[in-house]
Amino acid sequence: MTLVYVEHQEGTPDEVSLQAIAVARELAGGGPVHALAAGPSAADAAAALGEHGVAALHVPQHEVFASHAPVALGRALTELASRLGSGAVLAAGTERGNEVLAHAAALADLPLAANCTEVSAGDPMTVTRVRWGGSLLEEARLHGATKLLTVAPHAVEAAAAGAGPATVETFEPALSDADTAVRVVERVSTSAGGGVTLADAKFVVSCGRGVGSPEGFAPAEELAALLGGAVGCSRAVTIAGWRPHTDQVGQTGTKIAPEVYLACGISGATQHMAGCKGAKRIIAVNTDPEAPIISHAEYAVIGDLHEVIPAITAELRKAGAG
Ligand SMILES: Cc1cc2nc3c(=O)[nH]c(=O)nc-3n(C[C@H](O)[C@H](O)[C@H](O)COP(=O)(O)OP(=O)(O)OC[C@H]3O[C@@H](n4cnc5c(N)ncnc54)[C@H](O)[C@@H]3O)c2cc1C
Repeated sequence: MTLVYVEHQEGTPDEVSLQAIAVARELAGGGPVHALAAGPSAADAAAALGEHGVAALHVPQHEVFASHAPVALGRALTELASRLGSGAVLAAGTERGNEVLAHAAALADLPLAANCTEVSAGDPMTVTRVRWGGSLLEEARLHGATKLLTVAPHAVEAAAAGAGPATVETFEPALSDADTAVRVVERVSTSAGGGVTLADAKFVVSCGRGVGSPEGFAPAEELAALLGGAVGCSRAVTIAGWRPHTDQVGQTGTKIAPEVYLACGISGATQHMAGCKGAKRIIAVNTDPEAPIISHAEYAVIGDLHEVIPAITAELRKAGAG
């Protein structure tokens, strides 16, 4: 039996968790895949999880799960995995997925392979995983009675199985005071005016140091709004204090996978590319034809972003956008 920790928004499983389930199904080789999801609306995920091949959804019961509680989740996962005899426990390689599985690994004294892109069943299990912000891929052997791993976001596609809803089973994990001490106590929304978040946007227009000032973001804001997208930036920009850290794309920022990533005045440092290489299409706007971002881009405009972004917006308006 293979177990997956599922992240969800009000009962809608995150796409990256569905991708982890696709890997779990491959590993299970036709055997059952179960899921653990926490929170008041977790049971609402049963239909979508069943659709992706999950047989049973386990929902831990404790007031701490009203918000994100990584140690308690790690404890609940290890307890459930042990009771069910799980051969492998997976999660998405998100900040939360990696954190929860790291706690589970520490509690169970087992190794964890984080951010895997390929996984082959066996004992030891063979995994390929992303290291150093995406600058290298490592092949590793994963040992342990129960294999703990996270799946790098967007390394695989989610795959529907067309099955009926997962059965929902509740359980009460034995949690100590230490397990419940760490929890999210407040949330501050980052999407202004109910707009799309950077992580979810299908179109992202991002500016780097080449934008020159905080005011230089106005045309990018206008273009993003026109296409229902979001604005991102490089670390040079957040360090300069021109945008908040929540807008930063990269190894130490948000990892995104939009349909189109329009990177303007961004050189394309490895640490930046670690956050946007999941984009289906990268379009670069840069005055320097030798900038590294050009070699990652499907299309490039060699020019001044202060002219190019307004020109794109004007053409889109002419074509009827907005
Ligand atoms: C541990 C670590 C973690 C890091 N994490 C991140 C991260 O998460 N995200 C991140 O972005 N960086 C990260 N960095 C920093 C990274 O190495 C780069 O320093 C940073 O990405 C550079 O930002 P930039 O491309 O905006 O600036 P620059 O490298 O200065 O590039 C500016 C670009 O703008 C172009 N340009 C200038 N004027 C114009 C114009 N008018 N029109 C068009 N183009 C123009 C230039 O030709 C140049 O290519 C990290 C670094 C370290 C060490």
